[in-house]
Amino acid sequence: MSQSKDFLRTIVEEDLKSGKYKEVVTRFPPEPNGFPHIGHAKSIFINFGIASDYNGHCNLRMDDTNPTTEDTIYVEALKDAVKWLGFDWGDAVYFTSDYFSKIYDYAIQLIKMDKAYVDSLTEDEIREYRGTVTESGKRSKFAQRSIEENLDLFERMKKGEFKDGEHVLRAKIDMSAANMKMRDPLLYRIRHAHHFRAGDEWSIYPMYDFAHCLSDYIEGVSHSICTLEFENNRDIYNWVLDTLGLELPRPYQHEFARLGINYTVMSKRKLLELVENGQVSGWDDPRLPTIAGYRRRGYTPESILNFCDQIGVAKANSMVDVAQLEFCIRDDLNTKVPRVLAVLDPLKVTIENYEGHEEIDAPYYPHDVPKEGSRKLPFSKNIYIERDDFKENPPKGYFRLTPEQPVRLRHGYIITCKEVIKDAGGNICEIKAEYHPDSKSGSDSSGIKVKSAIQWVSAKEAKRVEVRLYDRLFSCEAPEGIQDLNPDSLHVIKNALIEPAVILDKPDERFQFERQGYFYADPIDYTDEKPVFNKIVGLKDSWGKKTKADKPTPEPKAQAKKVQVDGEVVAMTEAEQALFNKYTARSISIEIANTLARDENLSSFYEETLSVLNSPVSLANIVVNEVARELKQTQASELKFSADQIAELVKMVDDETISSKIAKEVFEEMVKSGENPKKIVEDKGLVQISDPSKISPIIDEIIAKNPDNVAKFKAGNTKLLGFFVGQVLKATGGKANPTVVNQLVAESLK
Ligand code: ATP
Ligand code: MG
Repeated sequence: MSQSKDFLRTIVEEDLKSGKYKEVVTRFPPEPNGFPHIGHAKSIFINFGIASDYNGHCNLRMDDTNPTTEDTIYVEALKDAVKWLGFDWGDAVYFTSDYFSKIYDYAIQLIKMDKAYVDSLTEDEIREYRGTVTESGKRSKFAQRSIEENLDLFERMKKGEFKDGEHVLRAKIDMSAANMKMRDPLLYRIRHAHHFRAGDEWSIYPMYDFAHCLSDYIEGVSHSICTLEFENNRDIYNWVLDTLGLELPRPYQHEFARLGINYTVMSKRKLLELVENGQVSGWDDPRLPTIAGYRRRGYTPESILNFCDQIGVAKANSMVDVAQLEFCIRDDLNTKVPRVLAVLDPLKVTIENYEGHEEIDAPYYPHDVPKEGSRKLPFSKNIYIERDDFKENPPKGYFRLTPEQPVRLRHGYIITCKEVIKDAGGNICEIKAEYHPDSKSGSDSSGIKVKSAIQWVSAKEAKRVEVRLYDRLFSCEAPEGIQDLNPDSLHVIKNALIEPAVILDKPDERFQFERQGYFYADPIDYTDEKPVFNKIVGLKDSWGKKTKADKPTPEPKAQAKKVQVDGEVVAMTEAEQALFNKYTARSISIEIANTLARDENLSSFYEETLSVLNSPVSLANIVVNEVARELKQTQASELKFSADQIAELVKMVDDETISSKIAKEVFEEMVKSGENPKKIVEDKGLVQISDPSKISPIIDEIIAKNPDNVAKFKAGNTKLLGFFVGQVLKATGGKANPTVVNQLVAESLK
């Protein structure tokens, strides 16, 4: 694969040239808490790609330091994905949990050096003591504990003598460091939880910042490549290794821009939510941006690697157009797969002047003459064509069959419409037609002019198949969650017809259904009795046209590596651009990042909230959508609420104490009274209702009140789900948990 030299490869080459390392060792270090997505593919492509370019090695390491969310099914999914993409991690998969004893020993060493201490402040106090961007923090009184006392406490933490949260181990660095991450970061916490590999052996677990650099060191990694959001963690990474005196070939951390794609969400947490709420059929739902989803849909590893190559490696985050990924798969399949005929919405055609039966020899690769392969297409009196390929009253420019206009049957004869048969409801149910015996494709002497050729199948020989058409899972460009789901992302056609030559004699087969798109035999549900095909992608980008008539989709290659800001006119300054990049790296949507980056007051307020609560996306949203309004009218110093209180408010949303709708109400109150958000929620009784036993009776009542909509829903109008959810939320004054309501309503309507 072609690979131009990016900044990471430049670093690697310099390090080899200077003799800093003899061998390049990289690693791909996922946390096994979800299925890998296309962002991980980018990371896999970079880490394994660099290792192979410089004859090095890339380790596959499960970063399993968080016992409550991890599982072996995710380990298997990660292994599958790496293998499927064509990479090899060698003999063994590594696990951070295998290094727990070694990491523990390093912690002891730090304590003995008086560089780490057991702290017994509460979580809230630790946060309070940390200070803000503008104010330095203050050190805990427990930092004065003696080395002996620390060793004793730490050992007892390990033995499980304390409860979760009672103590933590912290590095002793600098409570006034400009980089807030360096203000005595946590190294270990107590977690009485069962670990899927280590079992119940440990009651303490190392934090990412401590485990990651040491795991890299233990494995002899030279280049520890990660995404930009870890930029501020780099100082801790270096501090740990330096303080412990771990020398070259010790690893160094380098950051690159994380991949974001429009019309999709790309965080395992959000994907898990979709899976758990049943919005998709599983982690391998073909609409998901997971590797398993793309694989099931019919994407090839080559197309995904090609995409990763095209988007490149950069230091600035960018939003990539999903059309570019679609372009890559289309480009890959165009010359590779056979072309066959299928009819998705069949309309019966009876060719009245044809008797008997014949088989037409039709090439599988009609566009590519040297490529061999053909099949027999049965032709007879009774055929089906696509309903859409006949129009009784055609619009201007319609080139297919009409009462006046003949059309060619692909690879076959020209037919002319003689009569249109309709059912009692006035719907067309059959066309009576005539064929022209001397018009056969390849030996046409009829002299009849046609403007197009359409797909068809012979009624007797055609096979009935199920076809699943997928559209984008989200209907807006920068989706936040389930509220942005595209209600029409899946369309199942039960009775499509396909020519009989399409028999699967090996798994993993893809076809072009002429004029329809590329299709893949579903690897799970396909059986000979009930063949199922997934639509991989259409023949051209129809979405661009559908939604943005005024904005043509740019040439995919040309738009790579560019930050796209929708509707922007004024260019950003360099500093603003840097902020924008930092924000999108935190998965903040481009619109929000854009507003934040361009307003100094807003961004500094935002940074302040973020120093209190690590919830970059929710904080950014509230700052831009709510706080901005107030800041326009008032100086930051005169606001009735503080950044801390905004963080507190968001925390209540994050931990689901209140819904985001109620948060707005609370915010309005904060603006007016300057009251603390927790108190407002308590005083007004705004705590979110998540208990099904409280929500179900309301649902029952609303279902009883709306029999018409229930009937319509049951008859297939699934969009009405939103109506019911909305009614229930309204009935609770917005206090019901929307996710729970969604689930319960869906169940009740079954
Ligand atoms: P998510 O936020 O989706 O859960 P993560 O970063 O928490 O992702 P990890 O399992 O920790 O997921 O990631 C494994 C590796 O993949 C890390 O090195 C991470 O930087 C990289 N990675 C994750 N998401 C992306 C992305 N969108 N683009 C590029 N690399 C990514
Ligand atoms: Mg993570």
